[in-house]
Amino acid sequence: MTQGDHRRGLIFGNHRASSPMKLAMPTKKEKRRRKGLQREIAKRQMAQAEADRPISRSHLRDLFNYLDEELSAEGCDRSLRFTSRFIAKNGLPEEEIIHWLDEYGGNCDCEVLANVEEEWGESFQLRL
Ligand SMILES: [Zn+2]
Repeated sequence: MTQGDHRRGLIFGNHRASSPMKLAMPTKKEKRRRKGLQREIAKRQMAQAEADRPISRSHLRDLFNYLDEELSAEGCDRSLRFTSRFIAKNGLPEEEIIHWLDEYGGNCDCEVLANVEEEWGESFQLRL
């Protein structure tokens, strides 16, 4: 069997797999169903992100408040000095949290406040 035959076989396979109904425009009911699925997926991703977060919701909220106060008094020196201080004061796992913050674009104190709070701050308001 040549490469071309193989590819054709795959295409045929796909056609057989999807029913003719699915080629038509989705109905309103179908659209609603898909929206529901998307919400379900988003919820699951949120739960996963939640499970991966190495700092509790309340500590994170306290951290944002702390950074807010310290930064408006002293400003950011492009390090995570206030974040580190908060972590140490509360006996939290520093390495994990710094790594986690970095994933959300929090490379210094003001970025934690700007980027990480943007990502997580709103979910507090929605859920609390
Ligand atoms: Zn900064």
